[in-house]
Amino acid sequence: MKITILTLFPKMFEALNESLIGRAIKNKLLEIEVVNFRDFSLNKHKKVDDYAFSGGAGMVLTPQPIYDAIQSVKTEDSYVVYMSPKGTPLTQNKVKQLSTDVKHLIIICGHYEGIDERIISLCVNEQISIGDFVLTGGEIPAMALVDAVSRYVDGVLHNSESTTDESFSDGLLEYPQYTRPQEFMGLKVPDVLISGNHKEIEKWKNEQKILETKKYRPDLLSKK
Ligand code: SAM
Repeated sequence: MKITILTLFPKMFEALNESLIGRAIKNKLLEIEVVNFRDFSLNKHKKVDDYAFSGGAGMVLTPQPIYDAIQSVKTEDSYVVYMSPKGTPLTQNKVKQLSTDVKHLIIICGHYEGIDERIISLCVNEQISIGDFVLTGGEIPAMALVDAVSRYVDGVLHNSESTTDESFSDGLLEYPQYTRPQEFMGLKVPDVLISGNHKEIEKWKNEQKILETKKYRPDLLSKK
């Protein structure tokens, strides 16, 4: 899968070179291209923002540099996403769908008051939000999307890091996890997990998934 990120702050994406995503890039399972759309500005000072016609203190990203940057990277396989608090909230189903349906994902990161609406009308296939709060820029949301989508690309995760047995994979949260030692600060690992009885462990996991979901995200149960 290829992902192109359009941003004013390319250095922020150096963080993607770490850990599993970094390994996937190195192994060429993922191609990540980071493009600074300021480079496309036709303004003699490379300016990319201007005052909003609606007034107010904040600046708006002008359409020309973003439009030209998109045209320079777009192919017939591209799907253009704008990270925006107004977008559809990101879910695991959306992540899975993007990873299977899209060959080339282009992600636009906004800044200041956001981007000129005409870019959304002309170029954007979908707006995606990472939650009901406002960040200073689309870079952190874009990184969240890249990380989540990349986990579904073949070979990015090892079997032991599978996406099939984790929170949201079946609409529920994951069961609690324990490791050594068997007792820590007076708290013991549940007996069933050290019983060696795989059938009972499976039963425990399924029960715990429902309990965790009821406790932390009861809204998910009504969606099942
Ligand atoms: N004026 C905009 C509004 O009220 O909807 C907020 C602009 S925000 C300060 C700047 C940029 O950060 C946005 O253009 C978007 O790219 C990004 N951003 C902020 N919050 C986000 C969120 N929850 N999800 C996705 N992107 C977000």
